[in-house]
Amino acid sequence: VKWVYTFGNGKAEGRASDVELLGGKGANLAEMASLGLPVPPGLTITTEACAWFNRHQRSFPDALRAQVGEALRGIEEATGRGFGDPRHPLLLSVRSGARASMPGMMDTVLNLGLNDETVQALGHDAGDARFAWDSYRRFIQMYGAVVMGLDHEVFEEILEDEKARLGHEYDTELSAVEWQHVTRLYKEMVADELGEPFPQDPGIQLWKAIAAVFQSWMNPRAVTYRMLHNIPADWGTAVNVQAMVFGNMGNNSATGVAFTRNPSTGEKELYGEFLVNAQGEDVVAGIRTPQSITEASRLASGSEKPSLEKLMPEAFADFRTICDRLEAHYRDMQDLEFTIERGKLWMLQTRSGKRTAKAAMKIAVDMVEEGLITRAEAVSRIDPASLDQLLHPTIDPRVERQVIGSGLPASPGAATGEIVFTSEDAVAAEAEGRKVILVRMETSPEDIHGMHAAEGILTTRGGMTSHAAVVARGMGIPCVTGAGSMRVDFHNGLLIGLGVKLKRGDVITIDGSSGQVLKGEVPMLQPELSGDFGLIMEWADAARRMTVRTNADTPQDARAARSFGAEGIGLCRTEHMFFEGDRIHVMRDMILAETEAGRRAALDKLLPMQRSDFTELFSIMHGQPVTIRLLDPPLHEFLPKSDTEIAEVAAAMGMEAQSLRERVDALHEFNPMLGHRGCRLAISHPEIVEMQARAIFEAAVAAARQTGELVSPEIMVPLVGLRAELDYVKGRIDAIARAVMDEAGMEIDYLVGTMIELPRAALRAHSIAEAAEFFSFGTNDLTQTTFGISRDDASNFINTYIRKGIIDHDPFISLDFDGVGELIRIAAQRGRLTRPEMKLGICGEHGGDPTSIHFCESIGLDYVSCSPFRVPIARLAAAQAAI
Ligand code: PEP
Ligand code: MG
Repeated sequence: VKWVYTFGNGKAEGRASDVELLGGKGANLAEMASLGLPVPPGLTITTEACAWFNRHQRSFPDALRAQVGEALRGIEEATGRGFGDPRHPLLLSVRSGARASMPGMMDTVLNLGLNDETVQALGHDAGDARFAWDSYRRFIQMYGAVVMGLDHEVFEEILEDEKARLGHEYDTELSAVEWQHVTRLYKEMVADELGEPFPQDPGIQLWKAIAAVFQSWMNPRAVTYRMLHNIPADWGTAVNVQAMVFGNMGNNSATGVAFTRNPSTGEKELYGEFLVNAQGEDVVAGIRTPQSITEASRLASGSEKPSLEKLMPEAFADFRTICDRLEAHYRDMQDLEFTIERGKLWMLQTRSGKRTAKAAMKIAVDMVEEGLITRAEAVSRIDPASLDQLLHPTIDPRVERQVIGSGLPASPGAATGEIVFTSEDAVAAEAEGRKVILVRMETSPEDIHGMHAAEGILTTRGGMTSHAAVVARGMGIPCVTGAGSMRVDFHNGLLIGLGVKLKRGDVITIDGSSGQVLKGEVPMLQPELSGDFGLIMEWADAARRMTVRTNADTPQDARAARSFGAEGIGLCRTEHMFFEGDRIHVMRDMILAETEAGRRAALDKLLPMQRSDFTELFSIMHGQPVTIRLLDPPLHEFLPKSDTEIAEVAAAMGMEAQSLRERVDALHEFNPMLGHRGCRLAISHPEIVEMQARAIFEAAVAAARQTGELVSPEIMVPLVGLRAELDYVKGRIDAIARAVMDEAGMEIDYLVGTMIELPRAALRAHSIAEAAEFFSFGTNDLTQTTFGISRDDASNFINTYIRKGIIDHDPFISLDFDGVGELIRIAAQRGRLTRPEMKLGICGEHGGDPTSIHFCESIGLDYVSCSPFRVPIARLAAAQAAI
């Protein structure tokens, strides 16, 4: 087996398409090397070796050592240095690199190969002993943390003590001798803590580091990240071992990260940050606030610190050329890491850059205009879930802002919430339904849970590429980083801004688009859906086959959905209309009526209310199909539960609390989800269906007269399991329809169909389709009834299931293709056998979920229906599924 792939000197054994085997970093390093770009020579150990290692009690395959040894000799030749050579030592970086990027999730060791001997040679080679000792102490620190499992903090403490003792404020003030002393203290601490000396043998250092990177795949941070991003555990990570280049060899050295286009706005401009005389992780770690790469962005940011363009013009020119080349080669915006060692540029990474939804839109549209990609490619490149970000509200520009601080606009959108200072608090608050802003000095991968729970994130340190910024953009959460004018007093739980001291629980608003931090809650504006967004949507609409409808119960929902491009209503849950205002009282009168006559009297009062709701919905939808579902939930949902509620309602209704309680008890069900609901209600109380049908048809007549447009109601019967159930209910609907049409002297085109929510209905679809003119898959209930998992109780254990690998995702969010999907497939086939032209749609939550939408396309459904805010997501996902 080939476990090791080499690259460097204009050659490489792998290439960009080998992502699965070499990980993203390794595959792209190979590609860059083949393109002849300056990449430090190195080797990649495959993801398969990692999987092997994890399957075999953390041991290495036999051939691996020999293959790494041979590849190392290649690096030695290319660099003219020897690994462990006391005169011209080769130093290595060892980094993880998984198939999918997992920012900051895994470990890196730099300067490997240093020991008490080689450090002297490094100082000699570099002509800089101070640099050599600083590198050595960094190595001990990283190796100590990553490989030996020591706490990073203990090293920092030693360093801080030394600085205090020597009267230094900054690391840069330490001399060679002082760093040498710190190194000795580090080594003593390691020996004390672990009872063994820090390893001097470079070979041992290397193999232990490789093992540690392999093992880091299993560390809790990585496991959490994989869980959140649906990355399978058995993929494993590759390990990249590369000759070191140093960005910290003095003031003509630097290290940085850049995007070939602006990752926030999508603007076509090189965009990035760097630090002079700094090593690798310093930029991403967000500890020093970095400088702009181009002069243009330095000016835009108003920073005093010089740009790379000014500071190192030659290296900058090389870098700009390489950026253009890589972007044209990959035909996508790239995210790059580079180091300049004494004026010479080295490329350390390229990958397709993460970007905000807004930037993704702009870049895709621009690249179509530049002739780089096709419209279909542009549509395919937008992550549908990311549209959420564009649909975020922004701060109303007309309102006065009480700015209490500002930082970098790291992730767009505005968010308001209570201040919390820890991720634990954020998670706890979310569980209580409170909205919070997570405020930190900086975030680390341990904060992922808290970041997820927060509405927005504010940090007082770090740049646009700091952990907080990268992760928030990925999550679509508004974020402001590096708000240097603000201070977190963690000890006393205070956020100190311009003229204010805020405590935990106080409300602030952050504006991730401007970087401002505001006091209190601020009025927001709804998002603008034109420009690049409009174009992409237009291209998506041209590419898709399925139509996209919305689930809307109210006129507001329907209007919002139409503005997002909905092409009809796929589900109007009429019960929600009964909860509005004082209708609940009439509803209760109806439920509590002792006789049919009493019930009809109450229904007569409900009729005009429903009619006016439906008339409004029909007018808003302008002749687009409107699917109205008959009353679905069990009647006791409308009745009071607790004694106090019962007493109140009884008083309001002028009845005895006792008799109300008896009625409530009589309606009690042990398992209401499987109880007296759906079409079962319609069969027990046909007068309810009749009222609803009458309201629908009278509304259709009224709306048609008002607007002059055809109205096409589609009446949907819920929870059908038996063909005879549908026959019965349809009989009532048809009779009322005939009656209303005769009264009005007008024909209305309407359909009666059913939801497929029970396995029996799916299996008997051929028979049910004889009565049903359309099917709509109610995948919330169908998931519940197929799994036998209560949708209201699932959250108690679904996450445990996911954590333990029993299932890989929540089937109530993303369709279970194998089981529930199989039933849908069967029902679609059998339904169409009976009625080839019948309309098929989906209206459960899955109708707005991109992967579920792909499934719907694959089995040929006609439409998906989802909540208004998801309509754009569904339009895009439906297009991608069809492309
Ligand atoms: C469903 O069950 O999928 C559905 C859309 O209906 P509800 O969620 O109202 O039960
Ligand atoms: Mg349902």
